[in-house]
Amino acid sequence: MISLYIMHDFNYRHKYLYAEDVRLVDLAKKAGTPAYVYSRKSFYDHFSKLDKAFRKKPHLICYSLKANSSLSILRLLAGWGAGADIVSGGELYRALCAGIRPEKIVYAGVGKTEDEIAYAIRKGILLFNVESLPELSLINEVALSLGKAPRVCIRINPDIEPHTHSYLVTGKKETKFGISIPLAREIFSDRIKWPGVHIAGIHCHIGSQIIEISAYQKALKKIIPFIKKDLEPRGISIEFLNIGGGMGIVYNKETPATPQNFSRKILPLMKGLNAKLILEPGRFIAGNSGILLTRVIYIKESWGKKFVVVDSGMNDLIRPSLYNAHHEIRPLISKKGKRERVDVVGPICESGDFLAKARLIEELKAGDIIAVMSAGAYGFTMSSNYNSRPRVPEVLVNGSSFKIVRKRETYKDLIRGEL
Ligand SMILES: *Cc1c(COP(=O)(O)O)cnc(C)c1O
Repeated sequence: MISLYIMHDFNYRHKYLYAEDVRLVDLAKKAGTPAYVYSRKSFYDHFSKLDKAFRKKPHLICYSLKANSSLSILRLLAGWGAGADIVSGGELYRALCAGIRPEKIVYAGVGKTEDEIAYAIRKGILLFNVESLPELSLINEVALSLGKAPRVCIRINPDIEPHTHSYLVTGKKETKFGISIPLAREIFSDRIKWPGVHIAGIHCHIGSQIIEISAYQKALKKIIPFIKKDLEPRGISIEFLNIGGGMGIVYNKETPATPQNFSRKILPLMKGLNAKLILEPGRFIAGNSGILLTRVIYIKESWGKKFVVVDSGMNDLIRPSLYNAHHEIRPLISKKGKRERVDVVGPICESGDFLAKARLIEELKAGDIIAVMSAGAYGFTMSSNYNSRPRVPEVLVNGSSFKIVRKRETYKDLIRGEL
């Protein structure tokens, strides 16, 4: 499994943990802690493996910004030819700032506002992924008033169980996402009702951190017959088939498919379809391409339990608190010493503020720095100023050099904009 699935470039050399060719203790001296650290090579490897796996079919990889929207990362991805999957006007702004071309940008989300829709139409994005009838009507009206005819794809909710954390399920009927197949059928039939838009295809994103490819297959086995048996015989052709993102990664002991296996299981289902394929990976590209460095402040023992109190908390990385997510903990200097069971907790005034619970890790002492692994996706982008904590810097490693690509916030930054 590990040999086929590219993991990342954060590895030990002797006792020191490195990011590519940068020793992380040296980086931490310059950047301070806490800090997010990204590997350019890991981002590239994940992107290019997926891109190559689908080379036999015309396709576009629209990187999902919400996983990690650092401008420096987006600029790299733009240079490698990636498009963007966005879910807000702010993400559109970021994508354009980073040089992602509008004709490679797709826009999903159940709550697009009129202003956001107008902004995206003016910028000439590739298409909207429409999630409801009222949204379709609003896009239609805004388009007519602007005298433009944007493309839209209908986001289908196939009612599939993707077997992931309940908050990450988006393709089941009780979630807020997408449109049922019967309603999609009506929309395609009645498409002259929305003369301001061009209905160009189908979108489907069933969830995130999906390990079983069979979930994608089940979704496609509902969608492809709909295209072939319902739409095509009525002369409705599909220019885009967007299968979303959601490809799971290794945090702990998961065994996700390699990009090769994924494409081998997916592409045969699309035989005979001329539509261009769109993929929207976020976590797959970013998740194992970043880590969070944090320093041990205290070792606290209480009622026989040991707490490693670190300088980073749920405001910096909320995944353990929000999803009970597992993130591996690695000391920057491994002493191969005895291991002990501890809770790794932050300074935030909530018992839900932890990075690891009852975890067996090498014995640590105050001042040691640890890496919270697999923090490249939904890490910094979900961080906040809770407890009036400045947001942490982001550092990009490339070979033997590194650069701080986002400065640590200051106390002044915390009150900026307040009157
Ligand atoms: C979040 C999201 C994605 C990316 O999901 P990952 O699990 O990070 O790959 C793709 N498409 C849409 C519509 C999303 O909302």
